[in-house]
Amino acid sequence: AMARLPFVKPLETFEFDYQPSIDRKQVHTLASCHFIEHGDNVIVLGPPGVGKTHLAVSLGLKAIANGYRVLFTTAANLISVLTKAHAEGRLEEKLKVYATPRLLIIDEIGYLPIDRLGANLFFQLISRRYERGPMILTSNQSFSAWGDVFGDRIIATAILDRLLHHAVTLNIRGNSYRLKDKLKAGLIR
Ligand code: ADP
Ligand code: MG
Repeated sequence: AMARLPFVKPLETFEFDYQPSIDRKQVHTLASCHFIEHGDNVIVLGPPGVGKTHLAVSLGLKAIANGYRVLFTTAANLISVLTKAHAEGRLEEKLKVYATPRLLIIDEIGYLPIDRLGANLFFQLISRRYERGPMILTSNQSFSAWGDVFGDRIIATAILDRLLHHAVTLNIRGNSYRLKDKLKAGLIR
C-alpha cells in the first residue's frame, strides 16, 4: 500500500513472447535492481497497451522485495499534487515526498497536456532526484515529442538532459495486449 502501485503483477506474469521488441535479458538484468544502486533511470516508451505500466509495476515489486522504498505516481497526479502544494506554499514539503523514496515511478508522461507551471514543477523534481534518486518513467510519446508534452522545448530538453544522463531506455514497438484477443479473432487489424 505504501508504494501506491495501481495493481500487483509480478514480472513472472509478463508474457515476453507477445512483445518481441522487448529484450527480456535486459529486463531480467533490471529486475536484479542494480540500476537502483547505480542511480540509473529506466524509461519505458511505447504506444498504449504494450505493457509499460505492467513492467514498471513488476520492477517496482522487485525493488520492494529487495528492501527499497518505492513510490508510484502518474505524471498527471504528480503535477496536480505539486501545483496544489505550490499554491498553498507547501511545495518544499511535497517535493520531499517525491524526492525521498529510493525508487520513484512516474507513469503516463504524455497522455495529458502539461501547463507551464506544471512543466516547471516537474523539472524541479527531476533536478532534485538527478544523480541521487533513480526513477522509472513511462511515456507513450517519443523523446522528440516531449517538447509538445511539456509545452516548452527548452524545459523538455533540460528534463531529458538530466533523465538521460544515466538511463536505460526500453522502446516497445508492438500491438496492444488489451486488443490481443480481438486481433487474434480478426475483428481488428
Ligand atoms: P501500457 O501501460 O503500455 O498502456 P499496460 O501495462 O497497462 O499497458 O498493459 C495493459 C494490460 O495488458 C495490463 O493488464 C497488463 O497487465 C497487460 N499486459 C500488457 N502486456 C502484457 C504482456 N506482455 N504479458 C502479460 N500481460 C500484459
Ligand atoms: Mg500504462
